[in-house]
Formats: sequence, structure tokens, C-alpha cells
Amino acid sequence: MSNTTVAAPKAPSKNGVRRELFKSPVFDEVGLPRDPDNLYLQTVDTMLTAAEVMELPHEIQLILAQPKNEIMVHFPVRMDDGTFKLFKGYRVQHNNALGPYKGGLRFHPDVHLDDVKSLALLMTMKTSLVRVPFGGGKGGIKVDPRKHSMAEMERIVRRFTTAISHQIGPDYDIPAPDVGSNAQHMAWIADTFTFLSEMGGHQPEAVITGKPVEYGGSLGREKATGQGLVDVVVELAPELGLTIKGMTFSLIGYGNVGSWTGRILGGMGAKLLTVMDHTGAIRNDKSLDVEALALHVAKNSGVAGFAGSTKITTEEFYKTKVDAIIPAALEQMVKEQEAHWINAKCLVEGANAPTTPAGDRVLTDRGVEVIPAILANAGGVTVSYFEWVQNKSCVSWDAEEVDQALNRHMVSAARRTTAARKKFSCDMRTAAYIAALENIGKVYAVRGIFP
Ligand code: NAD
Repeated sequence: MSNTTVAAPKAPSKNGVRRELFKSPVFDEVGLPRDPDNLYLQTVDTMLTAAEVMELPHEIQLILAQPKNEIMVHFPVRMDDGTFKLFKGYRVQHNNALGPYKGGLRFHPDVHLDDVKSLALLMTMKTSLVRVPFGGGKGGIKVDPRKHSMAEMERIVRRFTTAISHQIGPDYDIPAPDVGSNAQHMAWIADTFTFLSEMGGHQPEAVITGKPVEYGGSLGREKATGQGLVDVVVELAPELGLTIKGMTFSLIGYGNVGSWTGRILGGMGAKLLTVMDHTGAIRNDKSLDVEALALHVAKNSGVAGFAGSTKITTEEFYKTKVDAIIPAALEQMVKEQEAHWINAKCLVEGANAPTTPAGDRVLTDRGVEVIPAILANAGGVTVSYFEWVQNKSCVSWDAEEVDQALNRHMVSAARRTTAARKKFSCDMRTAAYIAALENIGKVYAVRGIFP
């Protein structure tokens, strides 16, 4: 993290919330630098802006500006050829005022502490906005899962679980999958934790969510984030000037979030015109076949070469006119340039933090409505909560029950956001943070701050 003080650029504006970045005195009080390119500092700034607008008590702003715990571990793992490699893992526990820490584990070679801290803070906001009784956490391993055999990944995941086993637990910190990690990894984590903790009879598998359905996973978890995003879009459609049937959209990423969003919206009569992923960008002006594309990606690991599509450039991808563009890939992809290219009524953040503050400002100034990640992609953690409830109470819900409960949480969260937007005359991102912070503020008010 750089300590250089730079001229503060403008942050997003709408209806009177234009401001300088890093204006809050909290940055100095907790000793945070002002680096506009640092994802963690950007996220803290967004949170503090909302906190100031709603006048959240100062001490709660201080608490939320830093995570409670930052855990970093290094552990050796034997490779298939007999040599050893040393790996680095993280678990950041941002806040647990509302309940146990909750958030995914990212397996990616670029994972580093500040990004994990940012994602953990987003989780605190997300769980509060959808009103599930969890706090926020996030973690990961600096590893490229595609470069390891299944046996190596199993040893890496089990050894990481061992290294953090005293820091997680079904009533304390409950991880889940994120980019690069999957249900099989979650099963190894649950099994390792059960073995280490000797907690048989206390539902040790509730230590993690996103497990295979055969081993305590929930029906509907795999599609949950895409489904939740669609639930939010449907709820906000009148406000966004959209009609789902016939609506055109584009997707960045056709992985878990992107493909489920594409398939569900496609099934409702919306038209997917363009998709871009790490293999390139494709277009079909009539509509891409969302189901065939999912099969193609499963076989070929990317959208490139999909029959019935034309290859296009990145610039052409962004400039294609659509009703909604949905980033569902990595962080920070929509920067200033991309925001100028975008030709859409709204941008719905399926990924976490896909829009930079500079990109956000351009979009807002151009009248493109941005539905923030803490609302749009909260379906995943909501169904993770349902999985935990099912594990804890030794029951299993059917798919319909999961979908209905998810819809109730997402619709309520969308309504909370629009209510805050009206009350404080602000943009959707600030409004979603306000709706989340209101809940955290009430809990601190009744709990107090120990001692
Ligand atoms: P995933 O690994 O299944 O898919 C990632 C997608 O990103 C892939 O389609 C990949 O091709 C694409 N991608 C990678 N690099 C790219 C690049 N340079 N340009 C364009 N596309 C690129 O991951 P996911 O689970 O779908 O998660 C996507 C995002 O959604 C992440 O930000 C994640 O944190 C967030 N998210 C996921 C969930 C969930 O339940 N899976 C929940 C909440 C938030």
C-alpha cells in the first residue's frame, strides 16, 4: 500500500453527493493512506461517504474502517514430483457485530491482502443489506488451481484449512467458494475441519458453505448469485425503465455468476447480445443461445469460437448498445475509458467492485444507473446462509423453498436501497451502503461497545 498523498480525484456524484475522494477524517484517525488505486481504500471511502450522509456515529465509522483480524499464513505442501512448495494464505475477518464472519475463499495467483480486506468489508455490507445474521470475512490462497493436479490441490486445501483451523468454525467464521474455488474444495475443508476439531454431533460441516449437495450443500446454491441478481433487476425494472421480455444485455464473464445470470434472463425472454471473457468477446445481434454457450464454455473453458457468434474487439464489446451491461468477472474492469464506451441504460455489478471510482463517476455523469455489487450479487451469501441454517437444524429445503426465500431477501434489500435513495437523495451505491449501515448502527446501539 503506497503512502503517497495524491491530489484527491472526484468521486461519483448524483443529486448532491459529489465530493472529494478520501475526505473523511477517519482516514487520518486510523492511519490509512490516500491511494486512489488501492481497492481497499476505495471501498473504505465508499463506506465512509455513506456513513457521513446518514450520520453514522463516529466510533462505528472508526471500527468499520479497519478489519478486526487480518490472518496471514505460510505453509509447505509436497508436490506430485516429491518437491515442496511454500504457499501463502489469508483470512480477513472484517466485522462480526451481526453474527459469525462470512465470506468466500479465493484461489488465484494475484490474491493479496488489500484485495481480501476490501472483499471482507464488502461482505459486512452485503450480509447487513440482505439482513442475514452474519458479519463479513474473506480469504484465499495465492495459487493458480489450473497449474496443480487434483491431488496437489487437495493437499494445498487441507493444509491451508489446518493452518487456519483455530480461526474458523460453524459459530465463528464460515468461509465459502469464490473465484477459483469450488464445491470439491469446500468438501475437503469441511472434512479436514471435522477431523481436526473432533466435533462430531455438532454439525462441523456447517463450518463452510457451497459444499456439494451430497455433503450438506443446499439446492439452489450454485445458481444463487445469478438468481439473486435477476430478482433485483426484476424488482428495479420499472425504475430502470426496463421490460425483462425483449430486454437486451451483455455480460463480462460467463463463469458461475455470468452464465447463471445469462441463462435465467435468457429463459425470461431477454436477449444476450455480447459476452466477453478471458478468451475474447463475441456477439450475435439476434441473441446468443445462452444454454448452448454454457455447454461450449464448459467444454472449451471460454466463449471464444462459439458457433453462431462473431468475434469482436473489446472496444466493440463495450460500445454495443444494450439495455443492461452486467460485469460478472474480475474487479476493476470498468475504468474511465470503458465507462465512456458503455452504451447502456444501466450497469448491474455481478462481480465484486468491477467499477473503479473514476469509471463510476463517468457512468453516473452520463446517466447510466449503477446497481452496486453489495445489492446485485448478494444472492450467493443469502443461499449460503440457508445452507448453514439447514446444516445447523439438520433439515434440507427443496429448490422451490430456497428460491422463494432468496427472492424475499433480494426484493426487500432492493426496496431498502430505493427507500434510502429517496430519503437521502443519493445514488444507488451510496443508498445501498446506507441501508446496510443503518442496520449495523442499530445493532451497535443496543449491544454497546465492550467494555
Ligand atoms: P468464475 O471463476 O466462475 O468466473 C469468472 C469469469 O471471469 C470467467 O468467465 C472468466 O473467463 C472471466 N474472466 C477472467 N479474467 C477475465 C478477463 N481478463 N476479462 C474478461 N473476463 C475474464 O467466478 P464467479 O464465481 O462467477 O465470480 C465472478 C465474480 O463474481 C467475482 O468478482 C466474485 O467475487 C463475484 N461473486 C461471486 C459469487 C458466487 O457465488 N460465485 C458471489 C458473489 C460475488
